[in-house]
Amino acid sequence: MPEEHRAACVVGYPIAHSRSPMLHGYWIDRYGLDAAYRAEEVRPEDFAAFLANLSARGYVGANVTIPHKDAAFRLSEPDQRARAVGAANTLWFEGGLLRSTNTDVEGFTASLDAAAPNWDKRTHEAVVLGAGGAGRAVVYGLIERGVECIHLVNRTRAKAEAIAASFGLAVRPADWRDLPRLLDGGALLVNATSLGMSHAGQLDIDLSGLADDAVVADIVYVPLTTSLLAQARRRGLATANGLDMLLHQAVRGFELWFGRKPEVTQELYDLLAADIEGAPA
Ligand code: NAP
Repeated sequence: MPEEHRAACVVGYPIAHSRSPMLHGYWIDRYGLDAAYRAEEVRPEDFAAFLANLSARGYVGANVTIPHKDAAFRLSEPDQRARAVGAANTLWFEGGLLRSTNTDVEGFTASLDAAAPNWDKRTHEAVVLGAGGAGRAVVYGLIERGVECIHLVNRTRAKAEAIAASFGLAVRPADWRDLPRLLDGGALLVNATSLGMSHAGQLDIDLSGLADDAVVADIVYVPLTTSLLAQARRRGLATANGLDMLLHQAVRGFELWFGRKPEVTQELYDLLAADIEGAPA
């Protein structure tokens, strides 16, 4: 018996750049669902009204992207992950309530699981670069998975200190000049800054001190292979990139809206990778 028609959307301003329609559209086709996923461009001043009418517009839920993640959090009933990050990117209805979560948390940790199974069994300490919204999600994901000590390096130290104040003693604010010491024998390095993106500055970090079984993750996905990941691969280290995280963070929303847990496959990765690599720089 086919499911009744369901629709979800990604809401942002602007929205043309979003790869979510391609990603969810691939899964809808692959599983032959009677479902739709659309892009909705909504100005900040119209977002609250859009959300209030989400169900009336025929949507069972939504992804939310820049600049609406904070408002989505405030205007919904957030789960623990959304509360920890202070922002929501996925919305769904539950018992008449508009619920929200932040799937960047599990997207990040699932990308590590795929790149280096059991990484969490051998990782007691990590170094995270970046204390913006994505850095907060990364740090929370590491805490959820039991990492006991997270050195959080950020250009603006006060932001790392604010994250430490919310998450407790596992988070240790640090400075860029501390990196050689922190990376010596290190098991996990994550770039959660925007450095390494096309058009942004580059990260220039010497990875030679990391342990031989260390994992390096870069959540930037344009380009797919940042100079940090290229250096890690030259050293033979396991790596996870930002596209891995983007694909894995989409799984939960799809399951919540359409009732089927989708698979992150090589074919899907290649489809999105070709789109990213083919986009004008
Ligand atoms: P954000 O809140 O604006 O934070 C940006 C971060 O980058 C801050 O830590 C900032 O440091 C740092 N930074 C920027 N320019 C810098 C520079 N020149 N030198 C040193 N540090 C610099 O952005 P975000 O939302 O956290 O996103 C960060 C990156 O993650 C972006 O590239 C985004 O595309 C990516 N991302 C990927 C995914 C995924 O699914 N793969 C999901 C979310 C985000 P200050 O605090 O000192 O400004």
